[in-house]
Amino acid sequence: MIIFGTRSKLIASDVTDTICHHCQSRDTAWLYLYRHYFHIFWIPAFPLWKSAFSECTHCKMARRVKEFDDELLRAYKQIKETAKTPWWMYFWLLLVVVLILSVAAIGIIKGS
Ligand SMILES: [Zn+2]
Repeated sequence: MIIFGTRSKLIASDVTDTICHHCQSRDTAWLYLYRHYFHIFWIPAFPLWKSAFSECTHCKMARRVKEFDDELLRAYKQIKETAKTPWWMYFWLLLVVVLILSVAAIGIIKGS
């Protein structure tokens, strides 16, 4: 039995210089960027999509990307471009590449 699925990890967060439309507070909206990944036995295999949400630290109003205004969308695009995917989200892919290279190296050594 192989256990697999998707999980997500927070890869970036930043406070935005926007006004909360719910409580009118300034600079209280935090933007959280998550990277989803496919896992096999809870070990990351490869990264999938990015998602984000915003939360006001004053009134706790949370918004999804579809509900972002222009200012939040601009901040979202900026953080999405600068946030890097952690290397360990490619763990299974790296393992497969190392195994293939090892088998090829053994074949070359035995062949010569
Ligand atoms: Zn608010």
